[in-house]
Amino acid sequence: SKARGRGVYTIFSPEMSESHKRKILIANSIEAAIEENQFSLYYQPKINLNGEIDSLEALIRWHHPELGPVMPSEFILVAEQAGKITAITQWVLNQASKELAELMSIYSPKIRLAINLSVHDLRHSELFDWIYNAFQAHSVNPENVEFEVTESAYLDNFETSESLFKRLHNLGCTIALDDFGTGYSSLSYLTQITIDTLKIDRQFVMELDTSERSRLVTISIIDLARRLSLKICAEGVETISQWEYLKALGCDTVQGYLFSKPRPLADIKNQPDYQRQA
Ligand code: C2E
Ligand code: CA
Ligand code: CA
Ligand code: CA
Repeated sequence: SKARGRGVYTIFSPEMSESHKRKILIANSIEAAIEENQFSLYYQPKINLNGEIDSLEALIRWHHPELGPVMPSEFILVAEQAGKITAITQWVLNQASKELAELMSIYSPKIRLAINLSVHDLRHSELFDWIYNAFQAHSVNPENVEFEVTESAYLDNFETSESLFKRLHNLGCTIALDDFGTGYSSLSYLTQITIDTLKIDRQFVMELDTSERSRLVTISIIDLARRLSLKICAEGVETISQWEYLKALGCDTVQGYLFSKPRPLADIKNQPDYQRQA
C-alpha cells in the first residue's frame, strides 16, 4: 500500500488488521468531521473546597457517521500521529470561545474554562495567534481561560513551550500541568516554568483507597504544589472517601464522576448544578 503524508495510508489491503483499518478510517475522517460539524464539546466541572463550581473543562466528543461515538482517548492519538491534531485544536479553540458566553450567563461572568492543548500543537509558531484570533472573534476575556498541557510539552522544546506559556500568561490566561506525576521524571523544570496549577493524575486518585504509596505520593504532590505556590486539582474523583481525603489535604479543586460526568451545553442549560452521587 501507498503511504501518503505522515503515516496515513489511503489503500486498504486484506492483510491489514481491523484496528489498523479503523485508525485509517478515523484519520481520514477528521477533515469531514470538522466541515460537517460532527464534533462537539462536553463540559465537566471542577469543584472547590466550598463545594462550588470553580471552572469547567472542555472535552471533545465525536459522533462518527459510520463508527458512532469515538472517544478522544482513541482519536486524539490517531490525529496526532496523522498530523491532524492542529485542525482539531483550532476547532476546539473556536467552539469553546463561542460557547463561553453562554457558560458565563449560566454560571457567572467569572466562570473559567479549561481547554486541552496537545504537545503537537506547541510546534506551531502560529498557535498563539490562533488562540488570540479565536478570543478576538468571540470577544473572550483571556482571564476566563485556562490551558491544560502535559509535562511532555516541555520535553520537546523547552524554550518554545515556555515562551508560549509566558505570552498566554501575560494575556491573562492560566496554565495547568495535566496528568502530573505520570510523565517526565525530573522535577527541576518545575522551578523554571510558567504554571498556575498541577493536576494530579487519575491514577493516583484511583488508588487512594487501596494504596498507602499512592496516598504518600499524593501528599507529596500537594505539599510540593503548595511550596511552589501552585494550585492543585485532582481528577477522576469517584468516591466520597477519595474526596474526603483530598479535601483534608487541602486540594483546591476536584473533578470526577462523583460530581458530574462531562455534559453537553444543552444539558448544562437545563440543569446547571452538579448532582453529586450519593
Ligand atoms: P484528560 O485531559 O486527562 O481528561 C480527563 C479524562 O478523564 C476525560 O476523558 C474525562 O471524561 C475523564 N474523567 C473525568 N472524571 C472521571 C472519573 O471520575 N472517572 C473516570 N474513569 N474518568 C473520568 P475523555 O473526555 O475521554 O478525554 C480523554 C483524553 O483525551 C483527555 O484526558 C485529553 O488528554 C484528551 N482530550 C479530550 N478533549 C480534548 C481536546 O479538546 N483537545 C485535546 N488536545 N485533547 C483532548
Ligand atoms: Ca485535561
Ligand atoms: Ca488529566
Ligand atoms: Ca490524560
